[in-house]
Amino acid sequence: MIGLDKVGFIEKAKPICGPNDAICRPLAISPCTSDIHTVWEHALGDRHNLILGHEACAEVVEVGSMVKDFKPGDKVIIPAITPDWQAVESQAGFSMHSNGMLNGWKFSNVKDGVFAEFFHVNEADGNLAHLPKEINVENAVMLSDMVPTGFHGANLAEVEYGDIVVVIGIGPVGLMAVAGAVLRGASRVFAVGSRQICQDVAKFYGATDIINYRDGDIVAQVKEAMGGKPVDKVIIAGGDNDTFAQAVNMIKPGGIISNVNYLGSGEFINIPRVGWGLGMGHIRIVGGLMPGGRKNMEFLARLMKYGRLDVSPMLTHKFNKFEDLESALLLMKNKPKDLIKPVVNLS
Ligand code: NDP
Ligand code: ZN
Repeated sequence: MIGLDKVGFIEKAKPICGPNDAICRPLAISPCTSDIHTVWEHALGDRHNLILGHEACAEVVEVGSMVKDFKPGDKVIIPAITPDWQAVESQAGFSMHSNGMLNGWKFSNVKDGVFAEFFHVNEADGNLAHLPKEINVENAVMLSDMVPTGFHGANLAEVEYGDIVVVIGIGPVGLMAVAGAVLRGASRVFAVGSRQICQDVAKFYGATDIINYRDGDIVAQVKEAMGGKPVDKVIIAGGDNDTFAQAVNMIKPGGIISNVNYLGSGEFINIPRVGWGLGMGHIRIVGGLMPGGRKNMEFLARLMKYGRLDVSPMLTHKFNKFEDLESALLLMKNKPKDLIKPVVNLS
């Protein structure tokens, strides 16, 4: 990111490895919709000559003197969120906010990201995970951000056996929310999106009902399919700030609305007074940055290793040169009809 609305390639010095850290060389990388919010929606404010990217599978090239479990040559998965594990927020269970709101999100936010020949990972023992040999580098990249974010949406919504769940937005994040909700035991899953390819892949992950927001009010469409009854949980993984009002208006008293969408613009979120039970409906709304760190990566990787989760249907566009990264990023910006997620394989 050269500046607002402007991307390109620049030369920077190779990052320096601290005693607890690692320097990595990417084997596969993928742009995220969040990179688009950052550059073209100006969601984080101005950034100059910031290296973008936070989704990578990589090879370790250097480790600090205190690093115990990783060595040069190891293949690793790197979470998009790399917390400071000694922070009190981490000890309280909110490592993604270690040392400040959203501060576990370092790559392509407060420090250079992974779209580089070499990148730096803080606290390597806590923030890297070994890549199981059963997972190829392209699929592994989905473990950086798409899998943990979508699954975090399902976790935050506390999806239980039998729950009827609506997932608003079925880009790669929402698709992983569908997969996560199904793995947690959801019975009926409504997937809200307009593009055919996303709808098809949502069904692959277990969506039972497809709602196209371009066909009219999604609350009315869900209510009609539900015979007027409310749903148990809503996971928001796309759309604009109105999705919160829609979620409130389709959920039961005591239901949980979870949001993992990055709200890149607007000042306020409106919550409908009546739908929210005049403030007394016990409808919880919770939004969260994905959890980072090694343990989460290792556990999610097991789902892929043992065949419970196949991310390959999401990888619609594949590239194999570093220079292709710009095209891949622009695909994420323009979201052509046949795109779910691009990946650049450098291995
Ligand atoms: P996509 O842009 O690929 O997907 C967005 C989805 O929302 C699409 O299915 C789109 O439909 C749908 N949508 C668009 N407008 C509406 C609307 N008005 N009503 C309902 N649905 C709508 O995004 P990603 O899946 O890549 O990412 C989703 C969000 O998650 C982004 O904001 C991203 O920045 C954020 N994110 C958050 C993270 C976290 O830690 N919380 C981490 C990573 C990403 P269609 O295209 O079919 O028309
Ligand atoms: Zn992201």
